[in-house]
Amino acid sequence: MKTERVVEDVFRFSDEFGPARIVHIHRPSAGLKAIAVIDNTACGPAVGGVRMAPDVSLEECFRLARAMTWKNAAAGLSHGGGKSVIFGDPRMPASHKEQIIRAFADSIRDLTDYIPGPDMGTDELCMGWIKDETGRAAGLPSAVGGIPLNEIGATGFGLAAAVEIACGHIGLELNGARFAVQGFGAVGKHAARFLAQEGAVLVAASDTGGTLADPAGLDVSALVALKDSGRPLHDHPRGQKLDGDAILDIDCDIWIPAARPDVVRADNVHRIKARLMPQGANIPCTSEAEKALHERGVLVIPDFIANAGGVICAATEFHGGTERTAFDQIDTRIRTNTRLVLEDSRHRSVLPRDAALALAERRVRAAMETRRWR
Ligand code: NAD
Repeated sequence: MKTERVVEDVFRFSDEFGPARIVHIHRPSAGLKAIAVIDNTACGPAVGGVRMAPDVSLEECFRLARAMTWKNAAAGLSHGGGKSVIFGDPRMPASHKEQIIRAFADSIRDLTDYIPGPDMGTDELCMGWIKDETGRAAGLPSAVGGIPLNEIGATGFGLAAAVEIACGHIGLELNGARFAVQGFGAVGKHAARFLAQEGAVLVAASDTGGTLADPAGLDVSALVALKDSGRPLHDHPRGQKLDGDAILDIDCDIWIPAARPDVVRADNVHRIKARLMPQGANIPCTSEAEKALHERGVLVIPDFIANAGGVICAATEFHGGTERTAFDQIDTRIRTNTRLVLEDSRHRSVLPRDAALALAERRVRAAMETRRWR
């Protein structure tokens, strides 16, 4: 019987930007299987999260590493892009998790051009273990000099700054503007807090338990306190209780996705009524949906411009900055980049995402010009 030999193209992800290195890690005694992708380091050592999940893959790791190359370059950081994935259930017993994370850290000890950060399935404590093993990690616990980016709302703060710039761009008065937030977690609730400080009115918010809506405005501080105590939005005594999907139909000026990928698709994009969509979540729209929004005149601020507050904060921490410096850096960088992207998008009549990618590519190419090995 003739067997067909399938030759896998191990360089199938390669293009002019990277990836520079793909490392498969296997430590049977620790039960560790992981992959690290260092994509492009022209701007500096790669920064990117460590994701732990049972169903991660090389392809996912590469796509996330490339996304970090663009996000870090677009944010103007002196860092390239990388990512790593660990195969496993993040809810495993703590002692086993520590063993796996430490074994992972030991395995990437010599990958000195990769600085790990937290991502789905890992947290500040995990970064503390990695720093303890290797001397480098970002997103550390405050006990060892970290800036607690989710606690202070770094990404939500940046998102609100992007919204302010975009409002000026489309002639929308932020004071009194009505906004809705899908996913009232670390990103969503802090974005709501900072926008409410500018006079914007939260008319709906959702979490996994459903949507809470009130056209007259919800009490943001009460909802943040509710979520901080571990309770769902539907436990709030006021407002209409609707199902989770109802958030899509809310009549508002600003609609903020801050939960999962691909929530706005070709089949439901017509339900979005807002004029502005600052993307807190990563890839919340399919590309068809994003194009449809653009054609309808809905201004989308692409994820890797609008939600860069977290990585700017992590990079500030890595370089020894304080919480105050982190807020200043997020404010300056996100305002500048949002303005550049929206102006270029208008000037060349292209999608904001295409303008943002062009900005990031220009910065990476310019950095590559300075390197001997590109
Ligand atoms: P989180 O877990 O703190 O919050 C997520 C919230 O979304 C929770 O309130 C959860 O109940 C809700 N949720 C989950 N599925 C939902 C659904 N189908 N409908 C409505 N609500 C739903 O997570 P986070 O850190 O706030 O991250 C949210 C998104 O932002 C993710 O896509 C993440 O990748 C992205 N992001 C986060 C950061 C950061 O700094 N945390 C930075 C950049 C991007």
